[in-house]
Amino acid sequence: MAYTLQIGALRCHILSDGLHYVDGGGFFGLIPRTMWQEVIEPSAINQVPCDSRSLLIESDAGLILVDVGNGDKLPPKVRERMGMDERNLRLVGELARVGYKPEDVDIVLFTHFHGDHIGGATRYADGALAPTFPRARYIGQRIDLADASFPNERTAATYVADNFRPLLDRKQLEIVDGPQRLAPGVRTDIAPGHTQAIQVVWVESQGERLLFLTDAACWAVHLQRLAWVPSFDILPMQSIETKRRLRHEAMAADALLVFQHDPQVVTGRLVTGKRGPEVQAIITEPAHFDASK
Ligand SMILES: [Zn+2]
Repeated sequence: MAYTLQIGALRCHILSDGLHYVDGGGFFGLIPRTMWQEVIEPSAINQVPCDSRSLLIESDAGLILVDVGNGDKLPPKVRERMGMDERNLRLVGELARVGYKPEDVDIVLFTHFHGDHIGGATRYADGALAPTFPRARYIGQRIDLADASFPNERTAATYVADNFRPLLDRKQLEIVDGPQRLAPGVRTDIAPGHTQAIQVVWVESQGERLLFLTDAACWAVHLQRLAWVPSFDILPMQSIETKRRLRHEAMAADALLVFQHDPQVVTGRLVTGKRGPEVQAIITEPAHFDASK
C-alpha cells in the first residue's frame, strides 16, 4: 500500500512492490523461533512475509526513487518458492497511484545490489532487457557493485547481473564511493553490516527528518534489539555497531523511521523504553499471514 508523507517542504511516498515469503531463519538468524514467533507467526513451513518498500522523494533535483523491489524477471520456480503471485508486481502501479510514470523518475538509488532491492531496475521489453525507468540516472556504491559483479557461493543467488549489467552497458549506472548528497535535504550514509557498503537515506527539511533504514534494520524489532541480526548479513558484528550508531542518530534527530521489509510496522519513531530504545509504531499494516503459503 502507498503512503504519502510530508517531511518539512519535501513530499515523500512509501511504495510497495508487494510481499514475498522467506524462511524465518533468514531474518532472525541465531534468535530461537520461540522468541521471534512472538513478533510474527510463521507459516507451517516456517516462512514469514516480507514487504518490499521503496521511497519516492519529490526533491528539488527531481524525482528520486530509492530501491525498486523484486521486479518481474524472477523465474516461476523462484516465485513459487517465495510465495509471489501477480499481485506482487506492483511498484509501477503504485507509482501511477501517486501520479507518476516510470519515465518521470530522475534518480534511482540502489541501497545495495541484492535482488529484492534492484530486481525491478530492468525488465524485458520486446525480448531485450531495458531499464524500467528509462530516463533515470541509477546510483550505486562501488564496493557493493564489486561484490555483486564477483559473487561468492554464499551471495550468488541474490546477485543477478541482469539487474544491473544492462545499466552499465548503457552507461546509466553511476558508481559512487561513500556518502552522497542527492538533492537539498536528501543524503545517503554508509551503514555496513548487511553488505559492506549498504547505504541508508536521510530526508531532512525544516527541522523534520526521515530515515530510510533499508536492510541496516529490516524490521522494527531489528532496530529495537541489537543482537537480532539477520543471517543474510555478511558482517554481523558490524551490523550491531551500525544499528547502535543509527539508533543514536535517529533518537537525537527524532527521525521518522521507515522499515523496508517489516510486514507489520511501516514507520515509527524511537522512544526511550524500559529496556532501552523502543520503536513506537506510527503506520502499521495488519499482519499478513496466509497459511497456505
Ligand atoms: Zn532486502
